[in-house]
Amino acid sequence: MLGQMMRHELTISSLISHAARYHADAMVVSVETDGSVARTTWGETELRARKLASALENRGIEMGDRVATIAWNNQRHLEIYFGVAGAGMICHTINPRLFPEQLVYIINHAEDRVLFLDRTFLPVAAKLGAHLKTVKHIVLMGPRDEEAAAMVPGLMFYDELIEEGDAAYQWPHVDENSPSSLCYTSGTTGNPKGVLYTHRSTVLHSLGGNQPDALNISARDCVMPVVPMFHVNAWGVPYMAPAAGCKLVLPGPNLDGESLAKLIDAEGVTLALGVPTIWMGLLQALEKLGSKADSLKRTVIGGSACPPSMIRAFREKYGVEVMHAWGMTETSPLGTLNNLLNKHDALSEDDQYKIREGQGRPPFGVELRIIDSEGHVLPQDGVTQGELQIRGHWIVDTYFKVEKTALTMDGWFDTGDVATIDPNGFMIIRDRSKDIIKSGGEWISTVELENIAIGHPEVANAAAIAARHEKWDERPVLVVLPAAGATPTEEQILAFYEGKIAKWQVPDKVIFVDALPIGGTGKVLKNKLREQFGEVLIEAAQ
Ligand code: ADP
Repeated sequence: MLGQMMRHELTISSLISHAARYHADAMVVSVETDGSVARTTWGETELRARKLASALENRGIEMGDRVATIAWNNQRHLEIYFGVAGAGMICHTINPRLFPEQLVYIINHAEDRVLFLDRTFLPVAAKLGAHLKTVKHIVLMGPRDEEAAAMVPGLMFYDELIEEGDAAYQWPHVDENSPSSLCYTSGTTGNPKGVLYTHRSTVLHSLGGNQPDALNISARDCVMPVVPMFHVNAWGVPYMAPAAGCKLVLPGPNLDGESLAKLIDAEGVTLALGVPTIWMGLLQALEKLGSKADSLKRTVIGGSACPPSMIRAFREKYGVEVMHAWGMTETSPLGTLNNLLNKHDALSEDDQYKIREGQGRPPFGVELRIIDSEGHVLPQDGVTQGELQIRGHWIVDTYFKVEKTALTMDGWFDTGDVATIDPNGFMIIRDRSKDIIKSGGEWISTVELENIAIGHPEVANAAAIAARHEKWDERPVLVVLPAAGATPTEEQILAFYEGKIAKWQVPDKVIFVDALPIGGTGKVLKNKLREQFGEVLIEAAQ
């Protein structure tokens, strides 16, 4: 042998062990389900995670077993992330806003053995109880609660369970290629599919996703993932935070703008992450409260397209840099993040904004390409659009319990998004292929229509959908949620498109609504809108 480097498994326990060893007193702040604020440290979190792992093992839960959570972002949820995966079990985070039938399907399909629940979701569990075939223990994430005990037979209590654990428990050896966590896609069509992350993919995602041009979290940061811990592992932040040793703020159940604005000020949050619908609420609240969110330096926005007006509002009113990012459950999720290069310094402010509005570039660890419908690779010229494909260290290969790989013959994953990529690798999502509007052989980007509409001062939110059309097959219809107290007219909204896009791309109709249907991960449910309004142009023509 010429020589050899040490082999050290890339495990999730190594992330939390690092925090306990080198950042033991860094804070973890948690808004609890009852609204109270709990404060702990990384040192304490690691200890409690080991005790939880030990308690689960004592209860007969084994390596590879699935342990589910239906919970907000809070301290106990964080302990479960590490206790479960650290012990070699699989942490299955579930979106609580799924329909009961979907919850039953997912829990049975995953064969979850334990179900951890926040108090909020107890009534759901009480209803599902009999349909859950594999669940041996339902655990309420809190202290003993007699009222809750009466609702679910055999209910266990987290704070008692953890006390059964041994504080001297040591993390076991785990192969880095073994699974660590499981997340289902939302399944807007058909049954949801599970993505099974490994220790290795998760650690590499933490390292790759936290480079200087990516999330760039340091021990000096105070990071608040508003994105739920059930939404692609809160975009990996709970794993990056202990590796960086930063202060972590978990915002609990109240994700309205006012609660978040107050939490940012109270805890000195420097970096917050979330989807655009949540940040719309935050911007409104900051205005109302007159707060400047002084501590906040950066925010990462993704999950759906960040409206350009939001990037400007954060920057110009609050001095907060928005980093627009793109990803999906299948990509752990970080696929691209947007940071400008030196060469962009010479551009005008407006041209710089244009680049920032896109979804950005891949960090080390993932690669992108676009292809046409015959599978030919398309040029990255910033103009040609095609189906976006990705490959890398933290991208799905095969869905949970599915035999066949999800990859193309040459090893890429098809994202279902339509995009352009420029010569520097900056990618712009034009649309999801199922949302894009196909008008007489031409494609119209719903993202572009929405971005313009949301820039109108009297529009709070908007969604563009394809409505069936006799002559053109599909034409755009815009569904608008007016800003509070505003009553914009259809003419005003349509006039706002003048000069911004070609005439034939302007929506045929504007529909005003009191609320847009929003899914569990904060995205507008366009399939619901298509069901409701997809025929309006046909009906109007009759
Ligand atoms: P779901 O199907 O539940 O929405 P994901 O959270 O995995 O599941 O969604 C991934 C999809 O969200 C992507 O394929 C893309 O269409 C959309 N998306 C994510 N981030 C962005 C973004 N920054 N801009 C536009 N679309 C985005």
